[in-house]
Amino acid sequence: QAKGSGRNTLRFFDPRTQAAVTARTALEAGLREALREGQFLLHYQPQISRDQGMVGAEALLRWEHPERGLVSPAEFVPVAEACGLIVPLGAWILRAACLQLVEWGRDAATAHWTVAVNVSALQFRHPHFVEEVVEVLHSTGANPLRLKLELTESLLLDDVEDIIRRMGSLRALGVRFSLDDFGTGYSSLSYLKRLPLDQLKIDQSFVRDLLSDPNDAAIARTIVNLAHSLDLGVIAEGVETPEQRDLLASVGCLHYQGYLFGRPAPASALPRIAAQVAQAGA
Ligand code: C2E
Ligand code: MG
Ligand code: MG
Ligand code: MG
Repeated sequence: QAKGSGRNTLRFFDPRTQAAVTARTALEAGLREALREGQFLLHYQPQISRDQGMVGAEALLRWEHPERGLVSPAEFVPVAEACGLIVPLGAWILRAACLQLVEWGRDAATAHWTVAVNVSALQFRHPHFVEEVVEVLHSTGANPLRLKLELTESLLLDDVEDIIRRMGSLRALGVRFSLDDFGTGYSSLSYLKRLPLDQLKIDQSFVRDLLSDPNDAAIARTIVNLAHSLDLGVIAEGVETPEQRDLLASVGCLHYQGYLFGRPAPASALPRIAAQVAQAGA
């Protein structure tokens, strides 16, 4: 179709670009349908305290595709962000996680668990985000003190005053904030000081080679010290071995998440993991 057109048009109709655009459009349509048809679900990955055992879980989005099976969020969350679907999808995630929180609240053994929910920068910036959280908490009856929102440093590329205001409104309700993938993005220490955060989450890229790479060990130690000096909690993600956990403990990080304790799994799998951790110790 590009025959006889100018150079720019020819480039536009590059078949590879065209294929990518088609695939992307199909993925977007698939995501919209998934939301309508109830193909999304949440898995939960335990968060462990060295002293208190399992203290909560992170909700991780899964797409149960009718033909492809479980699709990774790494594949579709960026697309959901780019096409704006992350806003209604994010609302669904928040509600589902709060309903799970209410479920845990019914059992004395799990009533103290917190749920951590990933919130994309685009979703957090949406004008109605704060109202939406308030509405979800209200309509589900979830305890705001047990809700933790995971934000990433990419949020700080925007109007930081506005971000701080939004965080403040939610924090006034008791909602907590964790800064996800910490150390991998853009973060100025002066912002860090001003954000009403509760926790830093050490990115798994620093945990992976903790034992073999002295730089990673130094970074982990520095993040823990930074968290402590700012009076914040700290949790490490991607903990896969007892040796990583022990090294993290030796630099003062006492909260962990990773395959060592449990992979993301349906909520029904959590009580067994909690029991194992209670028995074996963190
Ligand atoms: P994240 O929030 O940093 O989540 C941690 C990722 O590390 C998860 O991947 C988790 O399954 C994986 N992981 C956990 N423990 C280990 C470990 O010991 N070793 C290794 N190698 N990996 C581990 P997942 O579930 O594929 O999610 C990927 C990313 O997708 C998340 O990174 C988050 O940025 C995004 N995401 C997931 N769920 C949601 C959601 O509900 N909303 C939004 N906006 N983003 C989400
Ligand atoms: Mg996260
Ligand atoms: Mg992370
Ligand atoms: Mg990550």
